[in-house]
Amino acid sequence: MQVFGLVGNPVGHSLSPPMHEAAYDALGMDARYLAFEPDPGDLRRAIHGADALGFRGLNVTIPFKQDVLAHVDPDDLAARIGAVNTVDFAADPPSGHNTDAAGAIRALTSHDVEVDGRDAVVVGAGGAGRAIAFALADAGATVAVANRTVERARSLAEDVPVATGYGLDVLGSIVAEADLLVNATSVGMEEDRSPVPAEALHPDLAVLDAVYRPLETRLLREAADTGATTVDGAWMLLYQGAEAFERWTGRDAPIDAMDAALRERL
Ligand code: NAP
Repeated sequence: MQVFGLVGNPVGHSLSPPMHEAAYDALGMDARYLAFEPDPGDLRRAIHGADALGFRGLNVTIPFKQDVLAHVDPDDLAARIGAVNTVDFAADPPSGHNTDAAGAIRALTSHDVEVDGRDAVVVGAGGAGRAIAFALADAGATVAVANRTVERARSLAEDVPVATGYGLDVLGSIVAEADLLVNATSVGMEEDRSPVPAEALHPDLAVLDAVYRPLETRLLREAADTGATTVDGAWMLLYQGAEAFERWTGRDAPIDAMDAALRERL
């Protein structure tokens, strides 16, 4: 039996176990995916322990995505982003990857949204914002990062090629000029709020919201009302999982089965 898992804290409501186990069922694989909550000081022992026990792969989530870099060999993209969400134990030492980046791009391209040559605005400069800003720039977009804490946006923009950092005060004017918008803040999760002024949205925009609880955020609702193309956060969650599955197994991920398992629970 192949064993995969997730380390984070908390992981009780994670959708990764049912999503990955649906993939194993669909392909008739003898495999399990389990969630673990190590104490923060035990991360190194958790990674080495999983390796010693023959785990095939681990996903890593909040609060460990940055700290895990010290315990794996990160690939170039994960090192640039400064966060790992997927550990592959096939390598020695285990290798670290960031599939949030490819997950965002595949979420967009699966909706026929081109990234190359687009003027993109990423709202948020936390973990998701960093991964998405690098992914969009690597895929050929020009990137503006807007963040509540402007220093964080400027610091991210210095790391990403062809990026500029802004505060939220100018968000309306840069979104009005853009053709791709990604929300990578948690705004819209707890309450019915949008991080972007509704009057800045327009029909030539494609909008991805990384928030997936709720699926239909206020931002996506207001964007759809203008005729913009909208992509919900479950697509990014799905494709980051599919990328991890494909890296670990070398097989194409059964997207429909994974998607059904996710949406059944959202
Ligand atoms: P994080 O590292 O904690 O970053 C949070 C971001 O949200 C920061 O940019 C923060 O700005 C901003 N923010 C928080 N509250 C705000 C407010 N009231 N007004 C304006 N900005 C605010 O979190 P993360 O890991 O990047 O996650 C961000 C969101 O993405 C979460 O909703 C998470 O669930 C989602 N996500 C989705 C996927 C997926 O696969 N769909 C993957 C990863 C994350 P400051 O820097 O100013 O604090």
